[in-house]
Amino acid sequence: MKLNEFIIPEDLKSAQSALEKLGEKGFAVAGGTSLHFLGIVEKTAVDISHLGLSGIQKQGGAYLIGATTSLGDLMKFKDQGWVLDQVALHTSTQQIRNISTLGGNIVRVFPWNDFPVALLALDATLYIEGVAEKAYSSDDYFNGQPIRLFQPGQLLTRVEVPVLKPGQGFGYHKEVRLHAGFSLMTAAAVITVKSGRIDGIRVAASAGIALPARLTLVEAALGGQAADAASLQQAVANGTAALAWKGKEGMSDEYAAHLGRVVLMDVLSAALLQAQGE
Ligand SMILES: Cc1cc2nc3c(=O)[nH]c(=O)nc-3n(C[C@H](O)[C@H](O)[C@H](O)COP(=O)(O)OP(=O)(O)OC[C@H]3O[C@@H](n4cnc5c(N)ncnc54)[C@H](O)[C@@H]3O)c2cc1C
Repeated sequence: MKLNEFIIPEDLKSAQSALEKLGEKGFAVAGGTSLHFLGIVEKTAVDISHLGLSGIQKQGGAYLIGATTSLGDLMKFKDQGWVLDQVALHTSTQQIRNISTLGGNIVRVFPWNDFPVALLALDATLYIEGVAEKAYSSDDYFNGQPIRLFQPGQLLTRVEVPVLKPGQGFGYHKEVRLHAGFSLMTAAAVITVKSGRIDGIRVAASAGIALPARLTLVEAALGGQAADAASLQQAVANGTAALAWKGKEGMSDEYAAHLGRVVLMDVLSAALLQAQGE
């Protein structure tokens, strides 16, 4: 992408009105690390990194994360029910994490983007602001390429993720061929355990399938089952049989299917152990 002009607004309304006036010629730039992967099109950049949309706040049972919060800041933040540091840790290099933002990672989704699966598993809420603010569940937001939801002048302003409670566990795994490489397979899961049974489960995968998606058949197979490894094994085997896995970087599709099942067992086992207090 070629940026031929740069506008640096100081507040949200000015950024929105600049983007609205520019229409198709305008381009919101947060960290700018995705420009490298986009085609060569001339655009006027509207820098959205000075709009006061950075930072993480805990409010009630949720973390409110500003859209321009860097992945480095997500990694540094620590709290009992906070898990996105685990995802940020596995995103590229520290230099990239310092400038890449959460918003940039989830507005125009590449197959390797690391955060969509985690936000799907966590049942996040995403806020897009135009004239008014509109909230999307992660299921609606990621039900296709998210950029489809944005009109010129509309920006993602914040993301809300629940604080994990006792009895809940999170698992995340990104499989790469080389250190700091793009993902071959990514998965995340949140499990709630009550009285030895799985009382709640959300699991999502990406990279090895076309777009980040929840694996609803695995979830259905696990709901209400005994909280043990045998239940996980059976649900992964039965719930993934119909998925169209896609190999990358020399992997056959068949190998991708095998890798997908192994990665899913890893994240589900990690989530289960944490939910059981281990
Ligand atoms: C060498 C390299 C390796 C990388 N490896 C990985 C990796 O392994 N995994 C990974 O997940 N990422 C990786 N990234 C980062 C990747 O490019 C992400 O997409 C990055 O998080 C984008 O964030 P950004 O802030 O730079 O977004 P930008 O590049 O500034 O923007 C990305 C897109 O989102 C739009 N946008 C940004 N913020 C908003 C907003 N608030 N509202 C509306 N639209 C918005 C922009 O208009 C643009 O279309 C890598 C980047 C590089 C350069």
